[in-house]
Amino acid sequence: MPYNSYPYELPPLPYPYNALEPYIDEETMLVHHDKLFAGFVTLLNGVLKPYPKLQKLSLEQLLVNPNILPKNSRLDITRYAGGVYNHILFFAKMAPPGENQHNIPTGKLMQNINKTFGSFDKFKALFSQNAAAVFGSGYTFLVKNRHGGLKIINTRNQETPLRLGYSPIIILDVWEHGYFLKYKERRDEYINNFWDIVVFDEN
Ligand code: MN
Repeated sequence: MPYNSYPYELPPLPYPYNALEPYIDEETMLVHHDKLFAGFVTLLNGVLKPYPKLQKLSLEQLLVNPNILPKNSRLDITRYAGGVYNHILFFAKMAPPGENQHNIPTGKLMQNINKTFGSFDKFKALFSQNAAAVFGSGYTFLVKNRHGGLKIINTRNQETPLRLGYSPIIILDVWEHGYFLKYKERRDEYINNFWDIVVFDEN
């Protein structure tokens, strides 16, 4: 994963701010990427400043085992590193709908989805159901375990799947800041539109 070492930098958005219109509006992208995501980058650099040893670790290493973190900064480091990690993934794993149909899985991943969930449509329905059920702020992920098995999980706040031993394949940010400007209370509509812009880049 790029942008994965101290001092952390805000990765540029890999497409124009209005590129995901009408699914995600330009103003939401500007606030979400340039203010909120940027805020997590600043907070993470700040909290790691007194810890030269931790500065040598990657985001994954900071997140996979919280017990290595100093007790009095553990919660903050986990939150801010999680915020950076989750937002790197979220913005990278979306793109404007295009001719290459990146929103449809291919190869082994598609086979695995079919085997695990019955069909791609059934997978989408289950993932959407999970995302609609996030209470408060959090994320829905499609993850892979160490043996390649697939699972849909929700995490709270800025928690990541890493501590649970999973690696993420796709991620949907269901914090209200991700959709409220455009969709207001209609989270279902935001979730439904996500399927047009999501990127499945594993196969
Ligand atoms: Mn967010």
